[in-house]
Amino acid sequence: MIPFNKPYKSQNEEQYILQALRSGRLSGNNAFFKQVAAHLKQKHSLDNTFLVPSGTSALEMGAWLAGLKPGDEVIMPSYTFSSTANAVVLTGAKPVFCEIDPVTMNADPKHMEALINENTRMLLPIDYAGIPCKIDLIERIAKKSDLCVMVDAAQSYGSYYQGKACGSFGDLSTFSFHETKNISCGEGGALIINREDWIERAHFMQEKGTDRRLVLYGQKTKYHWVDIGSSYLLSDILAALLFSQLECEDIILGLRRQVTDAYTELYQPYVDMGLISVTPYDKYDTVNSHAFWVIFDTEKNKEDFILRLKDKDVYAYIGYMALHSSPMGIKLGNQPQDLPITQDLASRIVRLPLYADLANDGLDYCLESMQAVMKSIYGE
Ligand SMILES: *Cc1c(COP(=O)(O)O)cnc(C)c1O
Repeated sequence: MIPFNKPYKSQNEEQYILQALRSGRLSGNNAFFKQVAAHLKQKHSLDNTFLVPSGTSALEMGAWLAGLKPGDEVIMPSYTFSSTANAVVLTGAKPVFCEIDPVTMNADPKHMEALINENTRMLLPIDYAGIPCKIDLIERIAKKSDLCVMVDAAQSYGSYYQGKACGSFGDLSTFSFHETKNISCGEGGALIINREDWIERAHFMQEKGTDRRLVLYGQKTKYHWVDIGSSYLLSDILAALLFSQLECEDIILGLRRQVTDAYTELYQPYVDMGLISVTPYDKYDTVNSHAFWVIFDTEKNKEDFILRLKDKDVYAYIGYMALHSSPMGIKLGNQPQDLPITQDLASRIVRLPLYADLANDGLDYCLESMQAVMKSIYGE
């Protein structure tokens, strides 16, 4: 059986988890948090890492930190996970959905710009499949209209764009360390704050809106409720697991790359014939091989592909259901026909099984099965 995803087992994980457990300091921002933050800084020059319980909570904390409020609008792709939009909706602001570029499946900056009006406060692109969005263009557009930028980088930890690590872009970037991501601690995430003037407030917000941090640092004797906030902290037990995974990040990346290289090669003839398109990893050498997609010529061929692979016990999945045309998107006043490019691509895309261990175990069977299914659909 070839599952869609399987978490990587890092060498030191059990030892570190035990160490965290025995330290007696199980809450957030303890020893392993510090190791994780130091790793992100040393490895990718990422500063001001806040470890949070999930990618979702990183987005939420970011939305509050940016001061979103009812009446504000935030422009994001419709082709994303519900959490990107929920973070905005929870503050009372409104998600406004833009089209995607069919080559990268990321937000189309031109369409983002066209949607800006006097209520727009934020641009919120994502890095789908770990391929960085065109953040240079997006930041330029934001600057012209005095908007802030948060990047949902849930999928792009370890990717680089123009020589800088994902996470270092925008006012805010968010990572996910969910089980389904490259680097995982089960449930976890990080908010990276790229502007100094938001950092103190972020500490208060992370600690349930209190200035507890000032007590820990001996600057105050009692802590008070000073701001809005929530419980935006990752337990040090999970930070221990996360750190063990980060120690293996180059190995994980290398193995995933073997799989995506093999997929790129296998599907190339069909790309050349104009029947499908695939994740353009061959055009990028500094991305993290997070996901590999195939966009079929028809929805029917996509469905046949998934079913026939399943018969061989290989599990591919559909991509996102576009948010604008989902039940909640419709409730917010959108229509499916508002974003025809997204609607069409979402109906034809499949994501292939992808995890580090696949490179060592099962890849040949997986490739053979896919080859056979492609032949059964398109002929020899
Ligand atoms: C995974 C993901 C999230 C949510 O992250 P969690 O850690 O599962 O909360 C948000 N946005 C995108 C684009 C994702 O891929």
